Formats: sequence, C-alpha cells, structure tokens
Amino acid sequence: MTPVLVINSGSSSFKYQLIDMSTERTLASGLVERIGAESGVARHTVYATASASSASGEVAGTPTFLDATRTRELPIPDHTAGFAVMLEAFASDGPSLADTPPIAVGHRVVHGGARFFEPTLITPLVEINIDELSVLAPLHNPANLAGIVAAREAFPDVPHVAVFDTAFHQTLEPAAYTYAIDAEVAASHRIRRYGFHGTSHKFVSEAAAAFVGRPLGELKQIVFHLGNGASVTAIDGGRSIDTSMGFTPLEGLVMGTRSGDIDPAVLFQLARRAGMSIDDLDDLLNKRSGLLGLAGSNDLRDIRAGIEAGDPRALLAFQVYVHRLRGYAGAYLAQLGGADVISFTAGVGENAPHVRAGALETLGFAGVEIDPERNESPQRGIRVISTDASTVTVLVVPTDEELEIARQTLSVAAT
Ligand code: AMP
Repeated sequence: MTPVLVINSGSSSFKYQLIDMSTERTLASGLVERIGAESGVARHTVYATASASSASGEVAGTPTFLDATRTRELPIPDHTAGFAVMLEAFASDGPSLADTPPIAVGHRVVHGGARFFEPTLITPLVEINIDELSVLAPLHNPANLAGIVAAREAFPDVPHVAVFDTAFHQTLEPAAYTYAIDAEVAASHRIRRYGFHGTSHKFVSEAAAAFVGRPLGELKQIVFHLGNGASVTAIDGGRSIDTSMGFTPLEGLVMGTRSGDIDPAVLFQLARRAGMSIDDLDDLLNKRSGLLGLAGSNDLRDIRAGIEAGDPRALLAFQVYVHRLRGYAGAYLAQLGGADVISFTAGVGENAPHVRAGALETLGFAGVEIDPERNESPQRGIRVISTDASTVTVLVVPTDEELEIARQTLSVAAT
C-alpha cells in the first residue's frame, strides 16, 4: 500500500482524503469545519476499500461496517486541534494510520504567483513564500498555510508537498497573461493574469487524452470546469495557453455567486454614484453576483426549476450563463486554431446537459456536434456526448482534484 494524505485547507475548515496510490483508491475522507466557532463539526468516512480490520471503530453504538460515515460535534479552536480530531477519527474509525502511515502529505495551495510552476516540497522557505503570496490571495493562502503548519506538526516525519492551483497556467505566454494597463504599475504590484483550477484542468485534459487514446502532446483541447466557481482553459499539447480566470478567480465565466467579466468602469460608477466602498464592491462581485445575483440562487438546479416554473429571472440567468460560455468556446477555438477535444467537468459540467448543449449549440461550423441522447444519458464516469460524425470529440470527464494532488505529491516525494 502507498497511502498519500491530501489536505485542502480553508480558513475555518479543511477537507482530507487518504488515497492508496498503488490502486488510486480512496481509503478515507473527511471534513473538519467550523474551526474557531463555538461548536465545530468533524465528519469522517471510511470506504469499503479499507480492510475490515483497519476500519474497526465503534460508530456511536451502531455495528461496525464499511463505507461508514461518522459525524461529531465538538469545539475545534484552531487547525492544530482540527488535525488532532482527524487523527482521533482515523484511530477510532480507521483505517489505522499506525498500520498504514501516509508516505507523504499533499496540500492544495491556491496561489503560487509567478514563482511556483510545479508541485514543490515544503520547506520553511517555501512556507515563507506561500505566506508572502498572501498579498495576492488574502483569503486563501493564509488558510492553506494554517493547514500546512498544523499538518506538519501532526506528521513531522514525512514529506509535505504543495500543489498550486495556478501552476498549470504558468505556461501562458505574456500575450495571454498581460493586462493592457500601465506596465510599471502592473509590474510593481504583480498585476497579471494567473489562472486558477489548474489541478482540475490538468487532470481532465490528461484523462481526456487517455480516453480518446491519443498522445496529450498532439491534442488541442478546451476544458470547461463548471462548478460553483467556473473557468475554461485552452490547452495545446498539454500546455495551458489561455484561461478565463485572471488576477483572481473573479474574471471570466458567470459563476454561482461571482460576476465573471464586467466592465471595470461599472465599479467607478457604483463608487461615485452609489457610494459603495471597495469592500462593498468586492462583496457585490464575489458573493452577490452570478446566478445568485441574477435569479436568487447560486445552484443551477434551482435555476432550472425556476425556468420550469416560469420565472423570467431564472431564464435570463441561464441565458447569460450560456451566452458567456459560448463566447469563450468561440474565443478559444480561435486561440487554438480549432480543437480535437472539448470536455466538461465539475458540478454543473458533469450534471447539466442543457448547459453543455447550450454552450456548444452554435459551433456546428467548427465541426462540433452534440448527440442529444448521449448528452442526456444519466450514465456516470467519463463519456462521449458528441456524435460519431463530429470532428471534435466532446466529453464529460468527472474531475478528481484530490487524486491529481496525490499523484503530484507522490511524484515529488518519490524523487
Ligand atoms: P462544484 O463546485 O463542482 O461542487 O459544483 C457545485 C454546483 O454544481 C452546484 O452549485 C450546482 O449549481 C451544480 N450542480 C450540482 N449537481 C447538479 C445537477 N444535478 N444539475 C445541475 N447542476 C448541478
């Protein structure tokens, strides 16, 4: 067994997954949340792939069984306490970390700036660099770092590896990442496009290449990662050449609560005419816009239900969402000079056939033809949704960012 522990740490929560990299199967996963609140919540799930003996915990009076989840409520003052709770969960519910200690710990880190372009062994100097990059990601990097510090205390003897959301997009050429503003101002504040969701775009584009049975280096691909956050990337021969998120994850597509692209002058107008502060505007565009701002819910299932109930706001939200997708599809076909594969992933991309169809419906001229029956099929897993005649293969590819982080972690830890 080759267990790798993956940590995705936020400011008041962290998720974890223990993956056996000899089979790439998840042994256990969990979520520790409401850290710092009066009462925290810890959820730990043991999967059937774990051996019966290692999953021998007492699950609150119920008989021991595999694929079991246990949720506990208790005060969790900080991340270090959260890791202690996680270790207790492994000890009581399994799999036993004494029997199968992780050989490495992989950490999701949102912002690697222009400095980190590959998975990186965490040293005190790397921690300082991640901390310094908090200037660019004030909500995310400090939270990621809190997880790293706590995890290094909990697992002091194994390599810890940082996997950056921005790293995959470090192949962008200056023409793609430069904003057309005063060059000195941009340089002194490191203002440029960085791109995000890189771990997912990398995983999906590699899985797509393997699925169609062609070398990654030969393929022109467009990957739509459509979750609550959403981005699209143009990938040429495995290299990201353009991506819709920019300096922050706010740019680009319409998202659950984020506006995506907007004329920056709207902000000047709202500051001058509506007296909104910088914080008000940040809150407006990041938390109260997108589908939520347009139709009152950030969940596409509610938007769909709203359309069926005749709500014109829901219909408009859907139309705006799809219009933006179509624009990016066309733009990236142009940047790539055509595409061999277009993939959809994440919550919306994997589950919303009407979004996929809407995004590509005008692209017949570029050889893109969706098969309605394949698109609507409830089948799970990686699958083709284009017709056999389509010159572009359109896929649904379930993303697995934790597995990708574990793979990259192993690649560093094994060297
Ligand atoms: P993610 O960020 O990848 O977890 O995606 C979460 C989002 O996926 C939700 O906010 C929903 O908008 C969307 N979603 C999840 N399941 C479905 C579904 N069955 N149909 C449409 N949208 C879905």
